[in-house]
Amino acid sequence: SPDITLELQIIPFASKQRLLICRDVSALEKTEVMRRDFIANVSHELRTPLTVIGGFLETISDMQGEISPDIQPYFDMMQAQTTRMRRIIEDLLTLSTIENNATLKDESDLQMLPLLNQLVNDARALSQGQHTITLHAETTVNLRGSYNELLSAMSNLTSNAVRYTPAQGHIDIDWQMRGEHVVFSVRDTGIGIDAHHLPRLTERFYRVDSGRSRDTGGTGLGLSIVKHILHHHQAQLQIESEAGQGSCFSIVFPPQRILSA
Ligand code: ADP
Repeated sequence: SPDITLELQIIPFASKQRLLICRDVSALEKTEVMRRDFIANVSHELRTPLTVIGGFLETISDMQGEISPDIQPYFDMMQAQTTRMRRIIEDLLTLSTIENNATLKDESDLQMLPLLNQLVNDARALSQGQHTITLHAETTVNLRGSYNELLSAMSNLTSNAVRYTPAQGHIDIDWQMRGEHVVFSVRDTGIGIDAHHLPRLTERFYRVDSGRSRDTGGTGLGLSIVKHILHHHQAQLQIESEAGQGSCFSIVFPPQRILSA
């Protein structure tokens, strides 16, 4: 029946015997689908009122000189918080769309060098000349995947590197073979992360320092979006970091994603 989801597990048992465990996870699956739908619906419903509020704030800000200096700081705060809420809602919608797609919807053969150059240009624009950003494309291999999803995952990593690296820092973007796999990595000389946070970084809304993340425009959803995109591509996220020294976030793509030359 399409309403029943079973989870099967085979465990070796004594010699030449196998234990087959069959679990009915339909209730769990149903709750998960309800949770996802709820988040998607709430985010969607919040979008319209927020657009209206943002629009009126814009209108007021265009009425030059009509806001009294006493009110201006409160007005600026309202604009900043509206922008922040819009960003969270957009990220929640992206996350629920990606979570709801069990498989890739828009797979194609991707030319990686233009995509990597695009990433570097976007990262430089975000950095506004505050960091040295360098691309090391050591291989020319191309991938099969979703252009939009991969650009989103990779630019999450590059924009985090920019946002968590103080001015004058270095950011190196590598595209290289590692055995049979191809690896995209972003190394920075930024604030780094204490080891005990690493296992939780891809959880929704997990932030090492929520104050700093908020100040840099973070929502705490970026790495969970990355995790789901990589799952679609059978790729792995690897994180190496040391507090105060910098971080290296890598995406390891399996051989089946690499296009033959
Ligand atoms: P955010 O929107 O808060 O940046 P992410 O999901 O992208 O959320 O990242 C989760 C947390 O991981 C961040 O809040 C930050 O504490 C930490 N983090 C991510 N990338 C880096 C990095 N390159 N350097 C230091 N900390 C990072």
